[in-house]
This record gives sequence, C-alpha cells and structure tokens, in this order.
Amino acid sequence: MKIKQKLNLSQSLLPVFAFWLILGYVPGVNAQPDSKKIRIIMIGAHPDDCDQDAGGTAAIFASMGHAVKFVSVTNGDAGHQTEGGGALAKRRMAEAKEAGKRFGVEYEVLNNHDGELIPNLDVRLQVIKKIREWNADVVIAPRPNDYHPDHRYTGILVQDAAYMVAVPNVAPDVPPLKKNPVFLYFQDFFQKPNSFRPDIAIDISQVFDQKINAMDAHESQMYEWLPWIGGYAEQVPKNNIERKKWLAQNRAVKITPEVRRMLEKWYGKEKAALVQHAEAFEICEYGMRPDDEDIMRLFPMLKK
Ligand SMILES: [Zn+2]
Repeated sequence: MKIKQKLNLSQSLLPVFAFWLILGYVPGVNAQPDSKKIRIIMIGAHPDDCDQDAGGTAAIFASMGHAVKFVSVTNGDAGHQTEGGGALAKRRMAEAKEAGKRFGVEYEVLNNHDGELIPNLDVRLQVIKKIREWNADVVIAPRPNDYHPDHRYTGILVQDAAYMVAVPNVAPDVPPLKKNPVFLYFQDFFQKPNSFRPDIAIDISQVFDQKINAMDAHESQMYEWLPWIGGYAEQVPKNNIERKKWLAQNRAVKITPEVRRMLEKWYGKEKAALVQHAEAFEICEYGMRPDDEDIMRLFPMLKK
C-alpha cells in the first residue's frame, strides 16, 4: 500500500510502451554463474511495496542475470474497501506472483496480518531467516519513519535483523551469514525526524514501462483500493490499455534535486541530464558500510 507520491504528471509515455504491452517481461539473457550472482533481497510491508519503491532496479538486476527476491512481511489482507481476510490475501498472493514474473524476480508473501504488524521477536526471526536463506549481499527496506505503521515496523524489523543475521545463536535452525550484507533504505518523502538522503541513484528510464506493466498485476491495489482510499477512484479508466497509461502517470516519481545530484555522481552530468525515471537508496548505518568501489561492485549497472 503506497500513497500517491509526488507525481510527475507531465510524464509522457514513451513510444515503446506498446512494445512492452505486447512483450511483457523478457527473461534476462545474461545468465550469471552462481558464484558471480549478486543477491538482493527487498523487504516491504505489503505485496506491492517493493514494486513501487525499487521495481525498476530489480528488473535491471534480473535482466543482468542477478538474483532478486521481493518479500512482503504482511499478506495484504486489509488492503481493500469491499474485500478482506483470507480471500483477499489469496488474491494478493496471486497478484504478487504475477508481478514477480513480470519483473523477473522471486516474490514471497509472509502470512502476517496487514495493518496489524508489530516488530516483535517472532517476525524479527522470520526476517532474519529470509535474509539468511537468500544469502543476501544487499538488503533493501523502508526507513522507519513512514506514514504507515506496517512500513515503519518493517523498517524496524529489518534494522533489528541487520546485525543478528550474522549471529549463530539467534535463529540457529538457519545458518548465519558469513558476511554482513549492505542494508539500504528505499526512497520516501517524509521529513521528520530527518529526510531521506540518497547515496545511490539508478536510472530506470529503460525499464519504466516494464515496471508499470508489472505493477499492473496488482489490480486490487492499483485500480481499486489505492484510488478508493485516495479519493480518486473515478479517474481509473475502464479499458486495460488506457489504465496502464494512467498508471504510468499516476506512479511516476519526481526526481528530486538530491537524487539528480546522485545520478550525476554515478552516471556523469551528461547522462544524468537525460534520465527520466530513477530509483534512489540511502545506506543504512547498520550492516556493512560500503565505499564507492563496493557500490560499483554491488550495482554493476552503474559501470560507465
Ligand atoms: Zn505498503
């Protein structure tokens, strides 16, 4: 569940949009041997959060042959105005699986109730195990100062896991990680107590249409629940093609001056000026603290 972020309503659709509609997701042709694969796990509160926050980055990693997993800590069973409970959780699970296919990533939904997430030991252990099982090099999660309690507590849960993933006596049924991963935060626009400070920015212009096509799989959210709770349900077009175009406008995130500066750092001024869509991440103080060289290794799409 994501409120509408700052929108770039002037976003015009690229001519390739129709191409992606027809093609959908194309599995990466650049298969990597397991030893070379970068392993990324993104952990959101709801089965559509990782998609909105970092779906483009995930699609690029996947197309390069790396291993990406999305985890939703709750099952999304509260995210609808007329449906709920087990039936809604089942519907959202199917939507998440379809979105995962379109992104080229694995999608797992944990069976914790939506809207009722508490950062307790039980869920912390679930999160620790997921990070270990994925043998993650990079873990990405929300900052713990978001408007939605499930988002906030997902941020806390991942922070609480950040050191424990390497401690053998905690959750001893899953072997600890040999090295602590890099932990990153998704971008958000909340200002208190401190605003998001991007350290990494990824140009997702080339995969933006793929991102929208994958998010389109979350029908219950993109076209029903979020427009209803946001008070703009009447704007949703009925026609499938029209509503994907609408979704692209509705879900585009404005590139802030801070993110543009990071694009310039990583891509150079000239290339950065051409970027239409970007996703940005802030390095968490916990876990491994990467230098620029580590970031280049872990985000190989940044190699100039
Ligand atoms: Zn959410």
